[in-house]
Amino acid sequence: MPVLDSYLGGKWRHGSGALTALRDAATGVEVAQIPSVVPDLAASLEFARNVGGSELRKLTFTERAQILKDLSKHLLGHIDEFVDVSYHTGATRKDASVDVDGGIGTLAVFASKGIKQLPDAKILTDGEIEPLSKGGEFSGKHIYTPRRGVAVQINAYNFPVWGMLEKFAPAFLAGMPTLVKPASQTAYLTHAVFREMIDSGILPEGSISLLAAGPTGLLDSLLTQDTLAFTGSAKTVSALRSHHAFTQRGARFNAEADSLNCSILGPDITPEDDELDIFIDQVVEEMTIKAGQKCTAIRRVLVPDTQVDNVVEALCSRLSEVIVGNPRGQTVTMGPLVSRSQRDELIANVNELLTDCRLAYGDLTRVKVTEGNAESGAFISPLVLIANDLFSTAPHQVEPFGPVVTVMSYSQVEEGFLAATLGNGSLVASLVTRDDQVARSFVESLSPWHGRLLISNADNSKASTGHGIVMPQMLHGGPGRAGGGEELGGLRSVVHYMQRTAVQGHPTFLDQL
Ligand code: NAP
Repeated sequence: MPVLDSYLGGKWRHGSGALTALRDAATGVEVAQIPSVVPDLAASLEFARNVGGSELRKLTFTERAQILKDLSKHLLGHIDEFVDVSYHTGATRKDASVDVDGGIGTLAVFASKGIKQLPDAKILTDGEIEPLSKGGEFSGKHIYTPRRGVAVQINAYNFPVWGMLEKFAPAFLAGMPTLVKPASQTAYLTHAVFREMIDSGILPEGSISLLAAGPTGLLDSLLTQDTLAFTGSAKTVSALRSHHAFTQRGARFNAEADSLNCSILGPDITPEDDELDIFIDQVVEEMTIKAGQKCTAIRRVLVPDTQVDNVVEALCSRLSEVIVGNPRGQTVTMGPLVSRSQRDELIANVNELLTDCRLAYGDLTRVKVTEGNAESGAFISPLVLIANDLFSTAPHQVEPFGPVVTVMSYSQVEEGFLAATLGNGSLVASLVTRDDQVARSFVESLSPWHGRLLISNADNSKASTGHGIVMPQMLHGGPGRAGGGEELGGLRSVVHYMQRTAVQGHPTFLDQL
């Protein structure tokens, strides 16, 4: 079995320590092995800062954007190879379109925005010159320059390609070198795409590195000008926040953590309205795509108490059509979870949810599997739970990271909005309504608790990108439990990798900057 190597200090290097076997999610067959450590990370980061940083800062924003454009075109030509590897993670072709095609598409959007909207310059200005004296000979201006460190990214297992590229693109545009640390479980897919990025010869030396190993020693090597963009569980985030790299050395930390996203059916929707189908379609899509292993997937389904039976019946009927199995199968519509350990964790979480809920659809211990190995694969049935009470604790606290939703009923929509806030900060909430008053109240009540809101009805549903899809143009992140961070949002994310400085002096000089 291949042992994954890392790309550090401008060369491929072997790791050491214990090896962990990485297995195909559907068959359990070993795909690769990953070492636990790569020694001397501090020197590798220093190489990225010195060589990668200075190479990138020789270029203007436009030149860097052009490189991203060339890279996205190059990777597009290799999509079929990446999709073949992606099947090992349990992803169907449709799932891969979110991670693989979505990641390369994100690169292309940043390239295009950089070419069209950023200056052919090395410094970015922020706002107008501010006069600071009566005579006009003393003024001030704000500028952004690239931070002089490394943009380290630590990613979750569920987006091995998109996670790498959506963080890399804004850092590269800003002029910071990147170090990618993929989650071990799916690191072989990140590795395959990364290798193609290096082999393309398109990227400047030192501008990207890969740590395909455990994280030991990585945070200890971060310095003041470095940044860490982390995606993963709330538990890992809380352990990392207090690391002295951030508390003492002042490296920047951005976190995207787990989230109990909700979707709300408006009180105005009746079974005769098309909007009920739109709502059901959205919930089923979010449950089944990537087998529910999306940080933005719907976990809580809030419906008027008069509609609970209709909603549950429609969900059960639609879920009975889902074909669970090997993602390579032509008829399969939902693949397995990424690994059997992830399935064990999901089962434990669902059992915790069942202290406050009852099971309305699915079997926690059995599922019919098409073209896969039910014994060694990580298959699970889609599951629908019904909460005993809108304000029961577990559904607002336990994240079941898989194809699981909890239906909860409200009598007044304001009560539903209040329940939505009990997730303690989420990435996304959606509402299906035709009533603009309800939509306005949703936006006013839930914006402070969410990074993104989506409002759908029959007028926009065909054009809508959907509840769970993160668009590079729009903000991704959320307050509280969701990590409190911000990614994407178009060029807003570029300045996360830059330092804003107020420069005061003569207006003629400031104008030249
Ligand atoms: P995880 O266990 O927290 O791991 C995430 C990453 O952190 C992995 O690369 C892991 O490396 C690394 N890591 C673990 N301990 C570390 C430490 N002490 N120091 C530095 N790095 C460390 O999460 P996961 O199981 O991969 O992903 C699932 C979770 O991610 C879910 O809760 C989901 O909601 C969340 N998620 C959030 C978003 C978002 O954008 N908000 C997106 C996707 C997923 P190893 O794999 O090598 O241990």
